Amino acid sequence: MIDLRALARDGRHVEGEIPVARLERLADSVSDPVGSVWFRFDGVRDDDGKLFADLMIRTELTLQCQRCLDALRLPCVIHNRLLLLRPGEEIPEDDLENDEVDALEVEPRTDVLALVEDELLLALPLVPRHEACEAPVKAGGDEEISPFAVLRNLRGKA
Ligand SMILES: [Zn+2]
Repeated sequence: MIDLRALARDGRHVEGEIPVARLERLADSVSDPVGSVWFRFDGVRDDDGKLFADLMIRTELTLQCQRCLDALRLPCVIHNRLLLLRPGEEIPEDDLENDEVDALEVEPRTDVLALVEDELLLALPLVPRHEACEAPVKAGGDEEISPFAVLRNLRGKA
């Protein structure tokens, strides 16, 4: 638990590493919860006194390719700037239309691991697929003539 606004006011940073298996929601969303997630929050206070956390995340996740059904290693690098608001504070108008900043209401004690997990869950592809791979060959597919069907035909004629 970290006070991100205090972190930003003081221009401090915090970083850490956590096993994928320890992030429950993420572990449920990957096919194999191996490896770890590295993250860093850099506290920033701009000239207007606004408080930000620049979030960096690096990891490699193991998903299942939805085409060939083999494992798919997906490198994930996330950079995101979070505008840190007090609970109930309104988003400043000039930040509403700024796509590069996500406004976030933070309690004095923020679960930064949950934040890291949220960002990774958002970054997961809906349908993970290798860039180039082949679907597994189906035995007795519809378009193919099954050798057994041919056999049956031969028998029928005999
Ligand atoms: Zn594949």
